[in-house]
Amino acid sequence: MAFSIRESDKTLVTKQPVFRFAPSPNGFLHLGHALSALINFKAAEQLGGRFLLRIEDIDLTRTRETFIDALYDDLDWLGLTWETPVRRQSDHRTSYAQALARLKKKASLYPAFLSRREIRTALKGELDWPVDPDGTPHYPPHDRNRSESDVKHLLERGTPFAERLHMTKTLATLREQNTKDGEASLFWHELENRAACSKIPARPDLWGDVLLARKDFPASYHLSVVVDDEAQGVTHVVRGQDLYEATSVHRLLQNRLGYDAPLYHHHRLVLGPDGRKLSKSLESTNLQSLRREGLTPNDIKRMIGFSDEDLRAFQPD
Ligand code: GLU
Repeated sequence: MAFSIRESDKTLVTKQPVFRFAPSPNGFLHLGHALSALINFKAAEQLGGRFLLRIEDIDLTRTRETFIDALYDDLDWLGLTWETPVRRQSDHRTSYAQALARLKKKASLYPAFLSRREIRTALKGELDWPVDPDGTPHYPPHDRNRSESDVKHLLERGTPFAERLHMTKTLATLREQNTKDGEASLFWHELENRAACSKIPARPDLWGDVLLARKDFPASYHLSVVVDDEAQGVTHVVRGQDLYEATSVHRLLQNRLGYDAPLYHHHRLVLGPDGRKLSKSLESTNLQSLRREGLTPNDIKRMIGFSDEDLRAFQPD
């Protein structure tokens, strides 16, 4: 079902649009990042909006300062400008911890102690075990079903733990409240051709008990993105098609935290020679090496086929 944004959410449309490009600095930017950054930047420009850059560096083990320096350099070379100061997720531990505490009142969370190896062992032989849209097996039920005394014991011994969302319990609470509010279900607005929106039903259940906080940081990708988009007043979340399904989790968290929903647009992906999504480890498509080979920003735009078509979702008739 398509309808115009004006009908879908009046408050979003009257606000000045805010776009963001939010790379994780655990590798050099590649052609896919160039497409995402350009779409966000140009769409903001066309709509008279703001363009923000955000450094998603909560994975402290994989973040490198050289990748951060390189991404500023690459984006500048591509001709992009952004507002300063740039938000760096590692500077916002307190905001995430606060959101996590609020979430505990509105959703069901539990401490998750299993290591990667324990997860593998727990799922060995489970042939029909569900996998999430990224292909990762759902978290096993071990921690979800632990007795209170067992949890207490592990915590007292200082066992490191992450925080996970008890998906079935949280969705049951939501359904109960939805029935009371007369709201049918969770959905998001996906901007498609010429600023028309489709109403997409969210399926957070497909993810199982998602990670909300890492063992070494009080947020996960899902939680930090939702908290930051709210804190920065982002009105348009524009990112690759590979994050389409993650939007379901983001909508659930926004709902539980009482945040407004931004509009979404998931753009096409730049594929590698093997027809698969680009990876940061593939040297031949990273912007640093392409620049070293003497390519210009216009060559990059040609290589990724960047055109007005990529901005069609934001241009009303
Ligand atoms: N940091 C994420 C990435 O580099 C993008 C997050 C988002 O746009 O929501 O894949």
